[in-house]
Amino acid sequence: MSAYEKLYEGKAKIVYQTDDPDVLLVCFKDDATAFNAQKRGQIVGKGEMNCKISTRLFQLLQAAGMPTHFIDSPAAAQMRVWRVDIVPIEAIVRNIAAGSLCRQTGLPLGKVLPRPLVEFCYKNDALGDPLLTRDRLQMLELAAPEQIQTMENYCLQINEILGDFFNECGITLVDFKLEFGIVPPTAGPTSPFAAGTLLLADEISPDTCRLWQQSEDDPQKRVLDKDRFRQNLPDVEAAYQQVLDRVTGH
Ligand code: UDP
Repeated sequence: MSAYEKLYEGKAKIVYQTDDPDVLLVCFKDDATAFNAQKRGQIVGKGEMNCKISTRLFQLLQAAGMPTHFIDSPAAAQMRVWRVDIVPIEAIVRNIAAGSLCRQTGLPLGKVLPRPLVEFCYKNDALGDPLLTRDRLQMLELAAPEQIQTMENYCLQINEILGDFFNECGITLVDFKLEFGIVPPTAGPTSPFAAGTLLLADEISPDTCRLWQQSEDDPQKRVLDKDRFRQNLPDVEAAYQQVLDRVTGH
């Protein structure tokens, strides 16, 4: 996949070093996992589709002034990004009740929330990514209080930008997960960001968002995201392709 040294391999991506110590190469894989990797499989073409969808969404957010790790996409399933230290927090933004919010609160699937909900989970597979209270977040010192406040502000801004954009594509943004990173103290002269800057990182794709097709009322047919894989619904690849086609205007 790359001549460069592998830095890290995750469930859906491999990260390589490059000639520039400030720049990493992310290769998106077709591998899919769910339920904390208890369910494993492949979604053919997912690597390319998720990279292209993420690229489009990062470009949209950058154009709106959001600081992100995205540099460019030199090949179909590859993305160059600025090196960051990932904050071990998964920020979840919800507009409509689904998934763990329904399981944990009893809210019915599809209930429109009175206002967007931002939640923080501990990014820790061994613990099952538990939901954290604000006090636990402070106690664990996973990020400085100002950084957590900035993350929350960015989450709400990103939700507005992406929600409007998906709406124009005929898709409802139900919920999504974001990860952030901090520019390391070693950042060199090629980096446009000062050390300590908080950047949006990771990916934004049907693996990390719940996306419902607005022209479909059927609760199974409308699903255009990884819930198709989680729930063993057919046509997973076609759903991802549909999202790609719509966000790239095809
Ligand atoms: N999500 C994610 N990675 C995770 C957990 C959640 O990308 O490790 C996304 C998920 O795809 C959904 C949103 O975050 O769009 C909210 O997920 P939820 O907490 O409802 O968890 P789930 O139902 O997947 O257990």
